[in-house]
Amino acid sequence: MKKIFIDKSLTFFILLIVITSVFLYFSYDFSITTYNRIENKQNNKNIENFLYLLDNEYKNLSSIKEESKNNIKNECLRFFDDCSINFENKTEVFTYIENFTIINELNYLNIKNNFLFHIQTKTYQELTKEAKNSIKIFSLIVIIILTLTILISITFQKQLNKVNEELEEKVFDRTNQYNHTIKELEKVNLKLYDLAHTDYLTQIKNRRSFFLHTSALFKKVQKSKGILSIIMIDIDNFKSINDTYGHEIGDKILKVFANSIKEILYKDEIFGRLGGEEFAIALPHTNLEEAFKIAENIRKRIERIVINIPSSKLFITASFGVSDSINTHSIDEIIKNADLMLYDAKRKGKNRVRSRLP
Ligand code: GH3
Ligand code: MG
Ligand code: MG
Repeated sequence: MKKIFIDKSLTFFILLIVITSVFLYFSYDFSITTYNRIENKQNNKNIENFLYLLDNEYKNLSSIKEESKNNIKNECLRFFDDCSINFENKTEVFTYIENFTIINELNYLNIKNNFLFHIQTKTYQELTKEAKNSIKIFSLIVIIILTLTILISITFQKQLNKVNEELEEKVFDRTNQYNHTIKELEKVNLKLYDLAHTDYLTQIKNRRSFFLHTSALFKKVQKSKGILSIIMIDIDNFKSINDTYGHEIGDKILKVFANSIKEILYKDEIFGRLGGEEFAIALPHTNLEEAFKIAENIRKRIERIVINIPSSKLFITASFGVSDSINTHSIDEIIKNADLMLYDAKRKGKNRVRSRLP
């Protein structure tokens, strides 16, 4: 905005200088013309008087001698600043102005209209006081206008700067407010995302989030022709624990159980609660044997969990079904296979790991 203003004011000043120059030129020209008009009147009168003087002496002569030249010149110098005489008859006889000099070209003729001599007179001019004054007044007016314009433009620029600053402040405030709102929105969005993807009780991935992440992982593995394995976990006899010790203890067990598993998993391994007391783990770059070992480790870990309840200690166990991505076409298929293995583990007496391996 400032830049535009500077560009405009520059154009404006150039225009002003041009106008001033034109104005001064015309005022000067006007003064000279006026002055010349006055001077010309005077000049004509001088010619008249000079010719009258010549008439007294030379009107009746038929020719003129060289010696008379000086006399004529002297007579002439009484009326003009400079005079030159010659005996050449010039066809063009007139008065003209050359710079500041009025020049008269005259042929003098006797009474019978015969040419006697030619005389050129010069009157040097100087600008009159009035002309000088009028130029001064014109210049003064222009200077006043120029000064006033500059003052007005400076005031205008100051005001514009002030308005600009105020506007910038407002924009700054608004931007801050806007950024703050965006940050708040981002936080809320994150919270909403968390709420939608996290299991409220155990704070691990919920069913939806687990399927989203494992589906993406499965696609990746398929592309790179790699492998992944799934471990399905179900806490044993959870209904009777709930019935015996109450729902609150059940909830506590779910939390401790999830934390215990979360602690030993790597960052790229996906852990989620699929519902109730059912959990699942997706292990990228892990074959069935390795997954089986991990499941067995977790099983032993769960066995060691001690839940303190009033006046006694509670131990839990879980059953595990393991399956890998070999010969499968979707994550659902692997999970289904792992689920079948989990049922097998339950059927065979619980607290064990089962896979298609013998
Ligand atoms: P199994 O060994 O065959 O798995 O038997 P189970 O009792 O563990 O399985 P069942 O499906 O019969 O019972 C699961 C129970 O889990 C039923 C339900 O009360 C309990 N449950 C599900 N969700 C929650 C929960 O969020 N909190 C608590 N405290 N209990 C839950
Ligand atoms: Mg169950
Ligand atoms: Mg169960």
